[in-house]
Amino acid sequence: MKLVRYAVDGTVAYGMLEEGGIVRRLTGSPFESLATSATSHPTAAVRLLAPVHAPRVIGVGLNYVSHIKETNQVPPTLPMLFMKHPSTVIGPEQAIVCPRNAQKVDYEGELAVVIGRRTRRVPEEKALACVLGYTCANDVSERVTQLAEMKMGCLLVGKSYDTFCPLGPVIATGLDPASLDLTTRLNGQVRQRINTSDLLFSVAKLVSYLSQAMTLWPGDVILTGTPSGVGPIRPGDVVEVEISGIGVLRNPVVAEG
Ligand code: MG
Repeated sequence: MKLVRYAVDGTVAYGMLEEGGIVRRLTGSPFESLATSATSHPTAAVRLLAPVHAPRVIGVGLNYVSHIKETNQVPPTLPMLFMKHPSTVIGPEQAIVCPRNAQKVDYEGELAVVIGRRTRRVPEEKALACVLGYTCANDVSERVTQLAEMKMGCLLVGKSYDTFCPLGPVIATGLDPASLDLTTRLNGQVRQRINTSDLLFSVAKLVSYLSQAMTLWPGDVILTGTPSGVGPIRPGDVVEVEISGIGVLRNPVVAEG
């Protein structure tokens, strides 16, 4: 099932994609019920939004085994976690804005997990039942600020400029998060390609680990980390993150006006 959040005729709603290019409106939010209404629209007539509104976003660093090996780093013994501010989140086709004071803005294609229910102290073997589904993410990062922050043992601003977390285009349910193909393209050229079987900390492990400390809420988003091949983006570029079973998240890059 593919769930979307969309705008049409001045209203915002959640919907489900149906055969033949139709989006069927849900009666409410997918975190409460997947009941559908009688209202539908051609998908081409609606504007897709980020599939979750202003979520709490938790990111994971250094989480692909091949990337850790190739950069000669020691595998972390605990997930290396940080947060991105909710104002970073944008939807498909919305522009990533390069801040005017930025020196090096990088794309990072990632699998994102959308939590489906209140989750506290869930064991790893039950963790995937707490997930609503999966979407594509771009963990856009201002690298100079990020590295300066990490030298001080913190990380927020380098990951949290407005527009630095494109999400979408859909939340796909029923996927096995340990066997998805992830591809990132910059201006049509492949820059990152990996299968999520290479994740050091699996989705189940991440959800279980976080829930030992904090209650996860419906709509919380966990970015699972990026593989090798990250690189800079500039105004005029277009970045696409594609994941099998989900689709393509496409965003242009513009300069701050
Ligand atoms: Mg990342």
